[in-house]
Amino acid sequence: MDALKKRNIDKGDGTCVLCGDQDESVEHLFTACGVASTIWSVVSLWCKIPHILAFSVKDLLEAHEVGSLKGRKKDLIQGIVRIGCWCIWKARNEVKFNNKEVKIEGIVRELKSLGFFWYNARSRGNEVSWSEWRKFVNM
Ligand SMILES: [Zn+2]
Repeated sequence: MDALKKRNIDKGDGTCVLCGDQDESVEHLFTACGVASTIWSVVSLWCKIPHILAFSVKDLLEAHEVGSLKGRKKDLIQGIVRIGCWCIWKARNEVKFNNKEVKIEGIVRELKSLGFFWYNARSRGNEVSWSEWRKFVNM
């Protein structure tokens, strides 16, 4: 909404539809928004990594570079963050255009599901079960 306003395209209320607290910008939607920050907290706990602290989209896209992540897990965190952004964007569009309700559990569920298929599609011979994926073990 912020990007549209900068281009003089008036699409009405520019408030973030996920939280209703702030103007919607790329930075807000993916980092500062209460919905996004809750999702990153859940992802951090699920993936057993230090809390993902992002003040910008750049920070978010570099979250896998922070700390001692290496090799496969580093790639995995990078992919999960990107999938998380996609899921937040999809949820935002569902609220904005289809009047759906924001459900953090639903966003997290979709992130885990998409991540599971993505991970196993890339892990020829090293696939994990859904149970392992949900507990984030053996990866
Ligand atoms: Zn928001």
